[in-house]
Amino acid sequence: MRGSRVWAGLLGVEHTTVERVEFDEDAGLLVAHVRPSRSRRGRCGRCGRKSPGYDVGAGRRRWRALDLGTVRAVLEADAPRVRCQEHGVTVALVPWARHGAGHTRFFDDQAAWLAVACSKSAVVALMRIAWRTVGAIITRVCADIDASVDRLAGLRRIGIDEISDKKGHRYLTVVVDHDSRRLVWAAPGRDKATLGTFFDALGPERCAQITHVSADAADWIADVVATRCPQAVRCADAFHVVAWATEALDVVRREVWNEARVLARTEGRRTVGRPRADAPARPGHERARALKHARYALWKNPEDLTEKQAAKLAWIAQTSPKLYRAYLLKEGLRYVFKVKGDEGRQALDRWLAWAARCRIPVFVTLGQRIRKHRATIDATLEHNLSNALIESTNTKIRLLQRVAFGFADAHALIALAMLALSGHKPALPGRTTHG
Ligand SMILES: [Zn+2]
Repeated sequence: MRGSRVWAGLLGVEHTTVERVEFDEDAGLLVAHVRPSRSRRGRCGRCGRKSPGYDVGAGRRRWRALDLGTVRAVLEADAPRVRCQEHGVTVALVPWARHGAGHTRFFDDQAAWLAVACSKSAVVALMRIAWRTVGAIITRVCADIDASVDRLAGLRRIGIDEISDKKGHRYLTVVVDHDSRRLVWAAPGRDKATLGTFFDALGPERCAQITHVSADAADWIADVVATRCPQAVRCADAFHVVAWATEALDVVRREVWNEARVLARTEGRRTVGRPRADAPARPGHERARALKHARYALWKNPEDLTEKQAAKLAWIAQTSPKLYRAYLLKEGLRYVFKVKGDEGRQALDRWLAWAARCRIPVFVTLGQRIRKHRATIDATLEHNLSNALIESTNTKIRLLQRVAFGFADAHALIALAMLALSGHKPALPGRTTHG
């Protein structure tokens, strides 16, 4: 094997001639001088079409390559420009890097693989790049995968959801496939126009093949779906309906907590130090403190409660009938979606009657809201669309959001979400033939 071929293999480049390699000892940097092989020269960097030369561009350029062992490495080459019929004057294609990239393909691919598999700090430390650079890399890698796979092929039953960041400043609209259980589409924004671009990409023929659409009760989603997929059965996401009940329950918990605090205020302050044995009882203070920490006991599904939380719930049942009633109402609604089908529908009838006369205003309002969306909720109970899918996609994207916080824009977050959740994960470079 000639030296040049060995270097090409080590640097992970194809269709590339390695002219010479030098080691810059001061910088600890290996510099490989390269040029595209004859068949790859004089092509448009964007479409790869053979194009006439234009000028020498900005002269020599460097691309960061994967480290060789522990030594950083770069490729250096001319970056002439060509004039493409379609794209005009643009930098010529180089076989070792994506267009416009400052890193080699292998470098990009490894960074993208790591971004999906590891923590943010591990990627940054191992690859020796800024997190923002990782954002740019995964956006490129995701665009490459987008160009080679049709994510929207064969969609029948889809779920549409909106996801916000913690502060509610930035929104994404996401679409999941209930059958493959994958994320298939995401875009920044949450409005009719945003969702419209999804159905545009799907096209009228494939829109006509959609049989079920699940979504939360947002009118803007319902309106677009009704126009674009009039034939599809519209279902309410059980996840969101149960979340309404959880929110209502928290309103009641705060009310009861505030009542206890008002009572506590009448009890006066306790002096510093251990209270005397005959000190007056302070039920208001105790109630307020206990209720403040009751949130998880009330939120969690009863089968997941710790012993301590179960005890807290029992205490609530004894001391705060209104809050306990609210808890049972929340659980009752969860039960509706657990049993589903006719049994679920009958349970929902009973639940609505119960909510109407429960004398807790937020649950009376919730009952009215559910009546309004009864048709889509019944469809959910009948067609048994997975609620867990939307819930888990939601949770996973929220997790990714935390990781993607340092990215400059929403597109990097979307790229990360697509790479992680769409079923087309980035591959490690150089593993296809030798495993
Ligand atoms: Zn071109």
